[in-house]
Amino acid sequence: MNIIILISSPAGGKGTISRYIEEKYHYKHISTGNLLRNEIKNNTDIGKKIKGSMKKGKLVDDNIIKEILEKELSNINSNIVLDGIPRTINQAKILDELDKKYNNFKITKVIYIEIDKDVAQSRAVSRLVCPNCNRTYSKDDILCNKCNIKLVSRNDDSEEIFLDRYDRFIKETRPLLEYYKDKIVTIYNNNDVEDAYLEVDKILKGDE
Ligand code: AMP
Repeated sequence: MNIIILISSPAGGKGTISRYIEEKYHYKHISTGNLLRNEIKNNTDIGKKIKGSMKKGKLVDDNIIKEILEKELSNINSNIVLDGIPRTINQAKILDELDKKYNNFKITKVIYIEIDKDVAQSRAVSRLVCPNCNRTYSKDDILCNKCNIKLVSRNDDSEEIFLDRYDRFIKETRPLLEYYKDKIVTIYNNNDVEDAYLEVDKILKGDE
């Protein structure tokens, strides 16, 4: 299994670009945010534990992240695009342990999606998501074009929570750029997402 890691600020486009990689290059998209939201939706024991901190945009405990990720990985045999993990150096070390534990698990590329803070902020406060498949939409959309159900706002997409999450991104997640300096490739997502897709194509040329 080849693993691509996507790193970006909140609302940087990780979900949208992951879906592109999933659809075009047949990587399986794993989003820890989506896995956690599903735990909450299904009212599982984990869901009950994390509900409060997720609503406030706080990071969920590493042991829970490791547990849900390993459970998900055990069902997958294809290449994977990881969205939302690692978020800290400690989580990068957890992935390194998995790399050692499963000899077919190889982090091949780390893509940093660079976006200006004000662009990310305006996307966060105006985005809508499908409560079923978690696809992201802009505020002008009403229904998910895949599930045909009404889009909703995420409860952690307020301006206040965005700013808090952004600060944490700077302090805890951005140091990963140094950690992965041998593998990192940067793409830009300030403008039309189609431009970012073209950059992804250059990086993944040959993986189709
Ligand atoms: P996301 O969908 O990636 O924006 O994540 C939404 C929320 O899920 C975050 O604000 C955290 O509360 C939680 N979360 C997602 N991934 C992680 C992770 N790797 N570690 C800790 N918390 C996470």
